[in-house]
Formats: sequence, structure tokens, C-alpha cells
Amino acid sequence: MSPLEGLIRARIAAGGPIGVAEYMEMALGHPEYGYYMKDDPFGVSGDFITAPEISQVFGELIGLWAAVTWQQIGRPENVVVVECGPGRGTLMSDFLRTVKSIPEFLATIDIHLVETSRVLRERQKSALAGFSPHWHDRLDTVPEGPMILISNEFLDALPIRQLVRTETGWAERRIGVDDSGLQFEIGEIAPDADHLVPPVAFATPGDIFEICPGACEVADILNRRLSRAPGAALFIDYGHDSSSFGDTLQAVRSHKYASVLSDPGNADITAHVDFDSFGQVLRRGGSRTMGPITQSVFLTALGIVERTEKLAHGTAPETAAILRSGTRRLTAPDGMGNLFKVMVATHADCPTLAGFETGIVVAC
Ligand code: SAH
Repeated sequence: MSPLEGLIRARIAAGGPIGVAEYMEMALGHPEYGYYMKDDPFGVSGDFITAPEISQVFGELIGLWAAVTWQQIGRPENVVVVECGPGRGTLMSDFLRTVKSIPEFLATIDIHLVETSRVLRERQKSALAGFSPHWHDRLDTVPEGPMILISNEFLDALPIRQLVRTETGWAERRIGVDDSGLQFEIGEIAPDADHLVPPVAFATPGDIFEICPGACEVADILNRRLSRAPGAALFIDYGHDSSSFGDTLQAVRSHKYASVLSDPGNADITAHVDFDSFGQVLRRGGSRTMGPITQSVFLTALGIVERTEKLAHGTAPETAAILRSGTRRLTAPDGMGNLFKVMVATHADCPTLAGFETGIVVAC
């Protein structure tokens, strides 16, 4: 048994079964044994691979998107560029390399990284040598002012609650222990559930609805910021564009699905992002949202094919092949192209931003 599983069992023994969010919090964020806290999980030899690790073109296009967005929001003299959950710092490094060719934008930006993992902060520091980013544990300590925020696979790492429909109402899904180890069980009726679960469909016993309090908190912070200063916050993540029932909690280890409860701290645990609920919190708070559109529509609109061909031209055939296969993987409908969605939150009277003009939600 891993040391973290021992700690989780001890907590359950002392206080009874724990909620899914508490479990996820410990499995990912425990200061010593949490998955993101103790190691660098990315890359071919790690547990999973993300878009910026697949192709440099991903971060380059987001850098260009940010420069165009800066112009669209009125070319503020100072702008905080924030990345939430920067991983190895690859996206931001590709972003900044591209932005160097747009000195009037580069001169205005101050970089802020929201990252809880000390191990990954070190990786980010070396990836961004030559720049002076500021680190934060939470978004709400980033200084006020005009902002461009980017994030890839950040929201999916935030702990979720799961509510299970029973004959008598919505109950909290919990994790307890029996002779065979950690087990899911149905806890008490959740008193706040009725106003948390939207009437998406008629629920039958056993249906699960997921709520991400951390995403709501991010939306609230953005609403406050975007009501005071112009800005745009880009979220790229896998998820669904309309709220529905279902258990999307999943664990991945060495590029394969694993059991969520079998080895806490040693597998990545994520849940699909409910862009519908996230967008509603943003719009209710006065922000404008665009999307979600698919990653494929977004990257194609930003010119991923043209950019890839430009880079491939004149390089060694092996390098050109790697660049082209990366682009295919990021955009293919059966790859990441349709699974991943892109949404942006802006101040209320922001013009439609680059990539979102077509209004196409899903590529067929
Ligand atoms: N964006 C990167 C990494 C995605 S993995 C990429 O695309 O490669 C999730 C990232 O979010 C990691 O850097 C992890 O340490 C960070 N993270 C997870 N939970 C967080 C939280 N609550 N606050 C801030 N960062 C968090």
C-alpha cells in the first residue's frame, strides 16, 4: 500500500468516508505524496502527453492568438499574461519565443504562473530561463489589470464532487474502505444538491452529476477581474459542451487507463470539464464567453496547417514528418481534435476573438 493510501485510510478511519473532491485533492495535491507534487508526469516516458508536448506549433499559435487578442482588447500598456497549470513550461516557452517577434506586445507583458507543484515550478523555471515569471498558488493573488490568461488541461485537474441520484434525492458519492480496499459508496443526501444540479434531463436512480467547485471559483475570480479591466481567459480542455449525467472520473498511468481508487498518488486523476456549467457561471457574473468550439476548429482557424507547412519546408524529412504528425494528432476528429474544446471568457463588450469567428461549435 502506498504511503498516501495509508493516510487516506487513516482519515476515513477517523472521520468516516470522504467525498470524491477530498480524495482527488489528496491524490493530486498532497504536499508530499500527491501526484503532481512529487514528480514530473509528462512525456512519452511519463504517464500522459499533452498538446504542447506533442508539438511546438500549439504554443506558437497560442502566442500569436494572445498578440492578436491584445490588439483586439485595445492594446493596453501593461498586461498580465497568466498561465494556469503550466506543467513543464513548454507552452509558455513556445508562446514567448513566438511573441519575441512582436516586440510591441512583448514589451507590455508580465508573466504570472499559477502552479501548486514545487517540482513543476522548477521545470518551469528552467524552461523559461531568461524571463522572470512570478508564481502563485492561486489565481486570486495575480495582480489586477488587463489580463490574457491561457490554460491547457488545467480545469480537468480540479477536484470534483459527484452526486448520485437515489430514490429520495441527490446523495454525495463517497469513498470508504472495506476488506478489499478503497470503495465508492453512497453517502447522505446532499442538502445543496437541488440548486446545484440543473434540470438537464429526468434523473433515474444511479445517475451521477459532477460539480467542480474549483472551476466555479476560477469563474468568480475572472468575473471580478473582467468587470474591472479588459481581458481574455482561454481554456482548452477535454470535456462536454452541454451538462449531462455520467461518471467521467478517470485515472491514467503510463498512458493507460487505471482504476481511480487503486493507487492514489501514482496515477493522474481527472474529470471532464462541464463547459456548460462553467460558461453559465461566467455569463451570470457579467462576462462574455465564446465557444466552446473544438480544438480542431480553433487551431485550424488560427492556421495550424499553414504554420506547420512553413516550419516543415526546408527541414530534414524526419523533422517535417514529426511536425505534420503532431498537427494531425492535435486536429484529427478521432484524435484530440474533437475531444478537446476551447472556450474563452472576456469582459462584457469584448469583440469576437480570433478563432471564434465562425461560431462553429463542433467539426464534423
Ligand atoms: N498545461 C500543461 C500541464 C497540464 S497538467 C500541459 O498542457 O502540458 C495540470 C497542471 O496543473 C500541472 O502543472 C499541475 O501541477 C497543475 N495543477 C493541478 N492542480 C492545480 C491547482 N489546484 N492549482 C494550480 N495548478 C494546479
